Amino acid sequence: MRFHQPRILLLFSGGLDSILAAKLLEEQGVQIVALFFKSYFFSSQIAKKMATSLKLKFREKDISKSQLNIVKNPRYGYGNALNPCIDCHLLMLKKAAQIMRKEKFDGVATGEVLGERPMSQNRQALDLIEKEAGLKGLLIRPLSARLLGASELEKSGLINRAKLEGISGRSRARQFTLAEKYGIKNFPTPAGGCLLTNKEYGQKLKLLLDFQEKIGQKEINLLKAGRVFKFKDNILVIGRNAMDNKLLHKNFTQSMALIDPKDVPGPTTIILGRHNQKDLSEILFKITSYVKKEKIGNAEVLNFIYLKNYAQKIINHILD
Ligand code: SF4
Repeated sequence: MRFHQPRILLLFSGGLDSILAAKLLEEQGVQIVALFFKSYFFSSQIAKKMATSLKLKFREKDISKSQLNIVKNPRYGYGNALNPCIDCHLLMLKKAAQIMRKEKFDGVATGEVLGERPMSQNRQALDLIEKEAGLKGLLIRPLSARLLGASELEKSGLINRAKLEGISGRSRARQFTLAEKYGIKNFPTPAGGCLLTNKEYGQKLKLLLDFQEKIGQKEINLLKAGRVFKFKDNILVIGRNAMDNKLLHKNFTQSMALIDPKDVPGPTTIILGRHNQKDLSEILFKITSYVKKEKIGNAEVLNFIYLKNYAQKIINHILD
């Protein structure tokens, strides 16, 4: 029998699974606070928008620095890209457990689905995360609850287990049926928001992390743009198009060097690391190989002169 209205802290990404977890709990009178963990790799924009449209109480907590430390050295390894999902979930649930205790919530919920993600949502990983986060019996996963051991919240009657779901696996059919039932439209794709799940991004990030210890939001944003590679004692980020060039300008800081060809068409480049004049000449030559050929014309000799002028213009600009 219930003695009070339960209050649950729900880990909320703004994706369909966490939306449905909120709906399943709200439907049985549970008070929800949607908690979003914001980081360098995951912005809160979509989650905030979804929470507003669902009239959920929303709060966010920044875990950028702790998450970055995990990315550098995860205890439970990476997924398909540079995504340390088990460690990352664990971090989030540990933080949620602290808030739960401090603010006297009855428990924590997530939108996890048994078997939906091979690395972090298999039975073993779900059990491990629950135990290590210090949430044994206090963590509820409404979408798969009927396939998992009953939590204290269900045993005490605070939450009605019979009204929760027993979804497992990667098919999203049941989720789509529930979305229709609750009239949920325009939800984002699963894990679409986390840059760490993108393989190409992960490779660039790995290169940068191996190169320099201290990185922050600006460096992380830079990697979204352009070609990134190591050249001598530098990392070069070279814009591929006007949008990339704009992003490079936006994230430039005084600890970097910016090459911006003012009077000739060509890519904006950011140099991270130390460089001397000799390196710079070689870097400039390297950059010129990314100037689009059609802008140069088709005569080889003209090509060479153009490249020479181009490098000269950049040098002049740097010296301005
Ligand atoms: S997808 Fe990204 S934010 Fe989500 S658990 Fe994995 S690393 Fe963390």
